[in-house]
Amino acid sequence: MLPDRLQEVRTRIERAAARAGRRADEITLLAVTKIFPASAIHQAYAAGLRDFGENYVQEFEGKFAEVSGLEGARFHLIGHLQSNKARRAAEIFQVIETLDSAKLARRLDEGGRPLEVMLEVKLSQEQAKSGAGPADIPALIEALAGCPRLRLTGLMTMPPWSDDPEASRPWFRQLRELADIHGLRHLSMGMSHDLEVAIEEGSTEVRVGTALFGPRRKA
Ligand SMILES: *Cc1c(COP(=O)(O)O)cnc(C)c1O
Repeated sequence: MLPDRLQEVRTRIERAAARAGRRADEITLLAVTKIFPASAIHQAYAAGLRDFGENYVQEFEGKFAEVSGLEGARFHLIGHLQSNKARRAAEIFQVIETLDSAKLARRLDEGGRPLEVMLEVKLSQEQAKSGAGPADIPALIEALAGCPRLRLTGLMTMPPWSDDPEASRPWFRQLRELADIHGLRHLSMGMSHDLEVAIEEGSTEVRVGTALFGPRRKA
């Protein structure tokens, strides 16, 4: 099951990369395991995946003991982070993709562990409440200069939901332009239904849940 689905997703990534004249190995496949139990992470690890995305600090805390021994696994927080949970998040995740305020940056830095971070950018009013506006990026970059443990690698976004993958393209393109302006290399964009479009627009990390693990029950 999972190995077959993984092969399908890898093929989709390879084809999209080839169309865009890019190398597939510069695109990280992040397995989004929210709602699924720790055993799903183990299965995905056994199938060769090393990067895992979780949305909720509390939910991942429940799985942490079972997965923290997986050598080389990297856990990314891809859901909104409240500053009162930042200390704990800094202990259990390696990457925080949803940094959106200077206060949160300071809290994460106080955790004392080195962390990779990405700025979550909110490009449209229809998107969820979290995320920094494009105009906030310079101030956030400046705030991060005062956070020695945090290494900023790029930008993340989640476009307004649409069945049509092409509807995501303008948002992905906009994120890429922002990354270029600010000299940031990585772009976390694209999910199960629109990963091809994201790769064509320069994504370096696609966050895939449903296409690997099947439908989720409601949180
Ligand atoms: C759930 C989620 C995903 C994965 O979505 P799928 O459509 O299941 O691939 C990706 N990114 C974020 C931020 C999510 O919350």
